Amino acid sequence: MRTTTINETAAILGCDPKTLRRWIKAAGMTATRGESDAREWHLTQAQVDRLARLHARGGGASTVGRLEELEREIRELKAHIASIKRQNAREGHLEVQETALPDPVVSPYHFDPPRQPDSAPTRGYALTYGTDAPAVFSHRADAGRWLARHGVNELTPKTWPGWRAVELTPRAVLALALSLMDTSNHRVTWRLRRCDDDACVCRELL
Ligand SMILES: [Zn+2]
Repeated sequence: MRTTTINETAAILGCDPKTLRRWIKAAGMTATRGESDAREWHLTQAQVDRLARLHARGGGASTVGRLEELEREIRELKAHIASIKRQNAREGHLEVQETALPDPVVSPYHFDPPRQPDSAPTRGYALTYGTDAPAVFSHRADAGRWLARHGVNELTPKTWPGWRAVELTPRAVLALALSLMDTSNHRVTWRLRRCDDDACVCRELL
């Protein structure tokens, strides 16, 4: 049977030999005399383990046993992770994860260059003319298409602060665009220009 001396046991349990003797006495244990040297008192592994448990110390075989237990748990977890990865790869989850990233949050004051060139062909727009009142666009999208004739991609105004609230008259729409055109900001790529309509308000504002 493997045994340890009082001094060895004290070192394993991290306590003073005097303390250890007190613990042995308190636990009602009997140390045995060594076979080679009768003056040495020895403790069995079971006794060391019991003392370690009683005094909440790591020591002796209990630590080795706990270590082996942890190593086994780690091996099991690694195997489990590997099986999850294999399963995900089979089901294509990894690709989904890469493409399903959330859209970046865009602040209303953030101008991104339009994705379409400003020279993209534009559809028509509807302007309703009143008798005394200024002409009004039927829809905001029409105002965007009208602006496209003045050098702005029709989708760009949707990113403008104030676009959703602007009055839908050519003058108000063009004035808003003019107030946001910042030639010193390299991120604002659009530039306003006059259209080919001699009666257009752009002749007055631009
Ligand atoms: Zn114009």
